[in-house]
Amino acid sequence: MTTLKVGILGMQGDIEEHEKAVMQACNKIGIGYTIIRVKKGESLKDIDCIIIPGGESTVIGGLVLKSGIFPELKKRINEGLPVFGTCAGLILLAKKVKDKVLGNICQQTLGVLDAEVERNHFGRQRESFETLLKITLIGEEPFRAIFIRSPVITSVWNNTEVIATLENKIVFVRENNILAASFHPELTGDTRIHEFFLKLCY
Ligand code: GLN
Repeated sequence: MTTLKVGILGMQGDIEEHEKAVMQACNKIGIGYTIIRVKKGESLKDIDCIIIPGGESTVIGGLVLKSGIFPELKKRINEGLPVFGTCAGLILLAKKVKDKVLGNICQQTLGVLDAEVERNHFGRQRESFETLLKITLIGEEPFRAIFIRSPVITSVWNNTEVIATLENKIVFVRENNILAASFHPELTGDTRIHEFFLKLCY
């Protein structure tokens, strides 16, 4: 049986929720797994894929920079390491970032995804919401998506494909080995998106 070594960037954010979702998804699709919380550069050589959780992208980005793993992580992703970013994770993958209120900000990101995102598009914490999304890639049944201070994707270019939209706003994309969502599939108990990602990894 294949054992997939799943890295989860372990700086800040909903790390445990992703761990749970990975466990459930691997059990469902019947693959063996090891979960590695990535905090240091050494862990990068042990993983087959990596998840960048939701949280606060400026905090996660700052800790990634401090840890010194930024260049190596970027290199591995550019070489084809499968990566899945949710919410703050999406922001950290994007090549261009602006903020709904502040406009153009010089936020340092990994800059691997051909997309521009607008942070905090839907407003503050209290404007968080749930909605049903049609995501044909994972099946006909709508996906209950949770948006918490979420960004939207304002434009994509090159190979980035749009997977899901919400009222004409792009909220889920894929570019080759990179999968990124504005919302939080790790919070719903519906593991179809994690299953889809993990199947890309082995
Ligand atoms: N608004 C947050 C940011 O800009 C992202 C929120 C989230 O990950 N739930 O980083």
